[in-house]
Amino acid sequence: MASTYRVGEGYDIHRLERGRPMRLGCIEIPCEFGPLGHSDGDVLAHALCDALLGALALGDIGAHFPPTDPRWEGADSMRFVSHAAALARSRGARVANVDATVVLEKPKLAPHIPEMRRVLAGLLECDVEAVSVKAKTAEGLGPIGEGKAIEAHVIVCLELPEPQSVS
Ligand code: MG
Repeated sequence: MASTYRVGEGYDIHRLERGRPMRLGCIEIPCEFGPLGHSDGDVLAHALCDALLGALALGDIGAHFPPTDPRWEGADSMRFVSHAAALARSRGARVANVDATVVLEKPKLAPHIPEMRRVLAGLLECDVEAVSVKAKTAEGLGPIGEGKAIEAHVIVCLELPEPQSVS
């Protein structure tokens, strides 16, 4: 059967503050600081959500989960990713692959990446091998390099069974 592909990209940045839990990639990472945000501030989850919505041309996370809505205060961002993944599945799309980069000065993310990949693959209902999470520092430059912020960039490729309208 013929397939068609749609690509989406997502980006997010949050301030970091001492004493906040570090939620990233839908897991919690032991750290003395974490992202500020209306929800749990998970930049990787938010960028992934925007990438999925972008591939479907269905707007962005703010349109689906307005930050002014008290329902999303302190929300677990897993819920946002699940929502976007369900929208994709409802249109017959499957996640071909995800490639993500998190930019953060510290802590080192390498020990946590296998669990992030496993949890995200579970939410996306795809193989762990289809989910790539990479981590970089900002080499001490700018607000990220100074430890004041965390940033994520995500690209998603969706495979649909045949050329069709997705919206
Ligand atoms: Mg965000």
